[in-house]
Amino acid sequence: MQSIAAPIVSAELRRRFVSSTRVFVLTGAGVSAESGVPTFRGGGDSAVWKGLPFEVLSSIEMLQRDLPAVWEWFDYRRNLLGILEPNPAHYELGRWQHRFPEFTLVTQNIDGLHQQAGSQRVIELHGNIWRARCISCHWCHEISVDTDRPEACLQCGDRLRPDVVLFGELLPQGALERAAEKASQSQLCFVVGTSALVYPAAGLPEIAKAAGAFVCEVNPERTPLSDLCDEVLTGKAGEVLPLIGM
Ligand code: NAD
Repeated sequence: MQSIAAPIVSAELRRRFVSSTRVFVLTGAGVSAESGVPTFRGGGDSAVWKGLPFEVLSSIEMLQRDLPAVWEWFDYRRNLLGILEPNPAHYELGRWQHRFPEFTLVTQNIDGLHQQAGSQRVIELHGNIWRARCISCHWCHEISVDTDRPEACLQCGDRLRPDVVLFGELLPQGALERAAEKASQSQLCFVVGTSALVYPAAGLPEIAKAAGAFVCEVNPERTPLSDLCDEVLTGKAGEVLPLIGM
């Protein structure tokens, strides 16, 4: 991708950034791109692993048919992620949580990099690759970089599955509702590094806008949400986000 000159942050956005008390941020795969995590659509939408497209490997049908194969795919992805670090965008958002009385960070990412950069109470719409969940009792187990993933549920002994939302599954109960409530109460909303093609997540900035929030997009490319935004900052999240609060 060609390098883009740093965008100019408007005086209006700076004023709102200083005066807002309720701030809402939605992030997508683009926020982790500078950490080396490939986006879905950035590399073409036909990623294939061992002959199977990711939509098949990451689907509920595959889980029902071949749980070990799903684990093999997610173990592979987790191993790749294990060596990656948060980038300046993750750290900047980690600082924003201390800056505003009410700050909500909602992510579609499953990589855990926001938390690694210090963000707390992140609303994860699509789960987290660093957790396994029991298929019977739904108990969640953390998976660490250093130890082997648990083979069976420590509570009931049944099989575990990745605690991520697969194609064909609903979002985790309550996550979208909490996110929508926070979006509807926000004064300032940022949409960072998402192609805004995956609903219902892409509907959250629309909720914020309808409720009167100032909406700002940070992305090197335009998205279907760009026209709705009050401000579009064209550039990489790790370069643009730190400029906003300066
Ligand atoms: P997407 O791949 O559809 O879109 C990525 C967006 O990020 C694009 O609009 C692209 O222009 C933008 N982008 C690329 N580099 C950027 C940068 N440096 N800074 C800011 N923006 C940048 O991703 P999506 O909208 O999140 O939706 C895809 C789905 O894939 C999500 O549901 C997500 O769960 C999943 N996913 C997650 C990860 C992850 O956990 N890191 C990675 C890939 C896909």
